[in-house]
Amino acid sequence: MRKNIVIAIDGYSSCGKSTIAKALAEILHFIYIDTGAMYRVVTLYFLRNHIALHDSQSIEKALNNIHINFEYKNNQTLVYLNDEDVSDEIRQMPVSERVSQVSAIKAVRTEMVRQQQRMGQSKNIIMDGRDIGTVVFPDATLKFFMTADPNIRAERRYKELIKKGENVSLEEIYSNLAQRDYQDTNREESPLNKAADAIVLDNSNMDQEKQLQFVLSYIKPLLTGSS
Ligand code: C5P
Repeated sequence: MRKNIVIAIDGYSSCGKSTIAKALAEILHFIYIDTGAMYRVVTLYFLRNHIALHDSQSIEKALNNIHINFEYKNNQTLVYLNDEDVSDEIRQMPVSERVSQVSAIKAVRTEMVRQQQRMGQSKNIIMDGRDIGTVVFPDATLKFFMTADPNIRAERRYKELIKKGENVSLEEIYSNLAQRDYQDTNREESPLNKAADAIVLDNSNMDQEKQLQFVLSYIKPLLTGSS
């Protein structure tokens, strides 16, 4: 059995996985790893370097040239591509529109999963994504599967991007989420699905505090050893 604690949070796009994961990491002093950001960084690199998604040689070469790093600063997670801060750029529409195609490529997944497993080898971590409880850490200490009404999710993401000054429409966001959910659920390589032993959290009508208390009610007994 593993000695370190791994908490896996999977679920659909824009369910607030990273918000809850970040809050938990802060409370528990665990390391937070946003695996969606990793696929987004790869997508950004592919876009910038015009990597064709069927060109396996260029993909292999590109993957060797991509170094992803996270930094935690003033309550923010910064994401670096080869030492360049790309935290904002990876959230913009050009990346969002292509990330599900890139993340469906087997070579990309193999490399990301290898890096993710290494990150969770010895430290207590909270990792969010689509395949954490099913593929990356099937032996995770605790698994959550997050879901919410698609309209509510789209509205939340829309407000977030508008606040950042992005020029987007609610319809555009809604269709991007629907498209990513469809592609992520139906791809051949480790599709998004709920692990049999994952706890479902539908946060359509829950505020952040409620979600946090829900998740903590499962985690706390583990920490005190009373479960
Ligand atoms: O979590 P986020 O929405 O930023 O993820 C962006 C995309 O990355 C997802 O739509 C999915 O295609 C991909 N992804 C994945 N596996 C993960 C995390 C994200 O395929 N573990």
